[in-house]
Amino acid sequence: MALIVQKYGGTSVGSIERIKAVADRVARCKRAGDRMVVVVSAMAGETNRLFKLASELCETPDPRETDVLVATGEQVSAALLAIRLQSLGFPAISFLADQLRIATDSNHGRARIKSIEPARVIEELHAGKVVVVAGYQGVDARGDITTLGRGASDLTAVALAAALKADACEIYTDVDGVYTADPNLCPHARKLKRISYDEMLEMAGLGAKVLQLRSVELARRYNVPLVVRSSFNESEGTWVGQEDQSMENVLVSGVALDLNQSKVTITGVEDRPGLAARIFGPIAQAGIVVDMIIQNASADGRTDLTFTVNRDDLRRTLDLVRRVASEIGASGVRHEEQVAKVSIVGVGMRTHAGVAARMFEVLAGERINIEMIATSEIKVSVVVNAKYGELAMRALHDAFVDNDAIQFAGETV
Ligand code: ASP
Ligand code: MG
Repeated sequence: MALIVQKYGGTSVGSIERIKAVADRVARCKRAGDRMVVVVSAMAGETNRLFKLASELCETPDPRETDVLVATGEQVSAALLAIRLQSLGFPAISFLADQLRIATDSNHGRARIKSIEPARVIEELHAGKVVVVAGYQGVDARGDITTLGRGASDLTAVALAAALKADACEIYTDVDGVYTADPNLCPHARKLKRISYDEMLEMAGLGAKVLQLRSVELARRYNVPLVVRSSFNESEGTWVGQEDQSMENVLVSGVALDLNQSKVTITGVEDRPGLAARIFGPIAQAGIVVDMIIQNASADGRTDLTFTVNRDDLRRTLDLVRRVASEIGASGVRHEEQVAKVSIVGVGMRTHAGVAARMFEVLAGERINIEMIATSEIKVSVVVNAKYGELAMRALHDAFVDNDAIQFAGETV
C-alpha cells in the first residue's frame, strides 16, 4: 500500500466539472489501495482575482491582510474536493495550513516553510480517509496566515511528501509533462520520460514554468520522487529524480528561451578594487536578482560592465545604477529593454567536452550574434537579440535534441 501525495493545479480544479474529474481520479487511486493526500491550488484565476480586489482598494495593500485574503482561494477548492469525495462514498477531510502546523517565517507573500507536523494527517490516513490540504499557505509563529509565493502549492505538496516520507509526489497540471523545449514555440519538442533534479532546477530557473523552483529544490534535498502529469488525460508524465548513468548519455535534455530579460551596460568604469561591489551592492539590497555579468578586459584603466536582470526589475535597476555610475565617475549607462536568453541544459555536459563550442557553431550557422555567454556545469546560456530568440531555440533544439549523432558526442554506448 503506497502513500501518495497528489497536487492539482488551478486549471485542474478550475470548475465544478473539473473538481468532479479530480475526485474520480483520486477515488480510483484510493480504490486501488493507496493512501492518499491531495493538495489543491485555488480554482483557475481565483488568486489573481483576489489580488486585484485588494489593489482596487489600495495601491499597496498590507501584506498580512493580503495573505488572509488570497489564502481563501485554496480553502474553497480543498473543501469542495472533500465534499465531492464524500458524496462518492470516500471518507475525506480537508485541512488548512494552521491545522497541520505548516510553520513558516513571517515574510508575508513569500514565506518559507520551517516545519510541518504531520501527526494529524497520519491519524486521518490510518482512519482510512483521503486527506485534502489547501496549498500555498502556512502559519507563522504568532499564528498569522502566510502565503508561500505564487505557484507554491507545488511546494506544499513536496513538503508534505517529504514530511510523510511518501512514496511519490504527483503534480497534476494542464500539460503532459516536461518538454525538451516549449512545445508552443518549438514544433519538434517532445516530452521527456525522466529528468534529473539538477536539470529541472536549471529549466525551472530558466523560465520553464511546469514546476515551481523551490519545490524542486526541496524535492532534491529530501529525495522525493516527483512526477509531473496532466489531469486531463492518462499520459504518463515526466519523472523528476536523481541522476543516473543513462541520463549522462544525453548531452542536452532541454532548450529554454527566456524573453523576459533586460541588459544593462555601464561604460567607462575605472578598473580598481571595490567598484563591482559598489555597483552590485545596492542592486542586491533592493532584492533584484542579477543573472549574467560580464566585465571586459580594461583598456586605459577603464572597463565596461554588462549584466542582465528580469525585465520587471529594469526601471528600479536603472535608477540605482545611474546614481552609482555618476558617484564613481563612470562614463555612462546603456540598456536594452528586451533581450533573449537561450540556454541548453543537460547533465551529460559534465562528462562531454565541446558542447559550448558546438552551440556557438549552430548559432553562427544561423548568423545570430552572441552578446553574452554564461556557463555552469550542466548549462550554457547565451544572450542574443530578442528577435532571434525563437530561431536560436529551434536551431539548438534541432542540433542537440533532434540529432542523436550529436547527442552522443561521438561516443558509442
Ligand atoms: N493559487 C496560488 C497561485 O496562483 C498557488 C498555486 O496555484 O500554486 O499562485
Ligand atoms: Mg502551478
